[in-house]
Amino acid sequence: MENRAAEREEMVRRQIEARGVKNPQVLQAMRSVPRHLFVPESYAREAYQDYPLPIGHDQTISQPYVVAVMTELLSPEKGDLILEIGTGSGYQAAILVACGASVISIERIPAVADLAERNLTRAGVRNVLVLCQDGTLGYPDKAPYNGILITAATPALPEPLLEELADGGRLVAPVGDRDMQELVRVTRNKDEYHTERFGAVRFVPLIGMYGWKKEW
Ligand code: SAM
Repeated sequence: MENRAAEREEMVRRQIEARGVKNPQVLQAMRSVPRHLFVPESYAREAYQDYPLPIGHDQTISQPYVVAVMTELLSPEKGDLILEIGTGSGYQAAILVACGASVISIERIPAVADLAERNLTRAGVRNVLVLCQDGTLGYPDKAPYNGILITAATPALPEPLLEELADGGRLVAPVGDRDMQELVRVTRNKDEYHTERFGAVRFVPLIGMYGWKKEW
């Protein structure tokens, strides 16, 4: 099977390191996960380009740089349990696993959840449990989580997810309106939540009980 390691190396150098991402585990994960196995066949040639790509059902796989930044903000460590909301292609989940984490990833659209399962299997990624349901409700069965990553645009941070964060855990999410959001990191310290902001991003909507109520 084609490996494309040279393209990944160039992606990491030009798109990710050059823009300031430094976490060695994140850089190594971006070098090792075969992103071309997570994009549709018709876009495989563009898999390592500096932009998001369509994955069908009006959804996208995020730009490599945005995946790297969100992973660095979350800073998953070996043995961490991470909850991802918005499985999409499964690529972000694979990056978290490559950083040493176990991942529970929730996707709302059944066909997209199936796609992610297939992509993850094809790429040989274990340690991801994909669930198909409304991720804004969280997943109390396995809580608390060391990190929670929301990879869809939310008008506000869903209350159930804040509750499922472990003490010292971090939640990273794009928060804002329909056109533009800000990348936000919330760190829990017992019953206190510390919020930091990291600039503008643009994501497809988080649709659910604690997200947007319908598509637009
Ligand atoms: N992390 C993905 C990847 O690596 O390819 C990209 C995620 S894509 C930008 C956003 C995903 O969030 C879409 O697949 C969408 O269906 C999903 N989504 C939207 N609302 C959701 C919800 N309430 N619960 C779970 N998934 C949701």
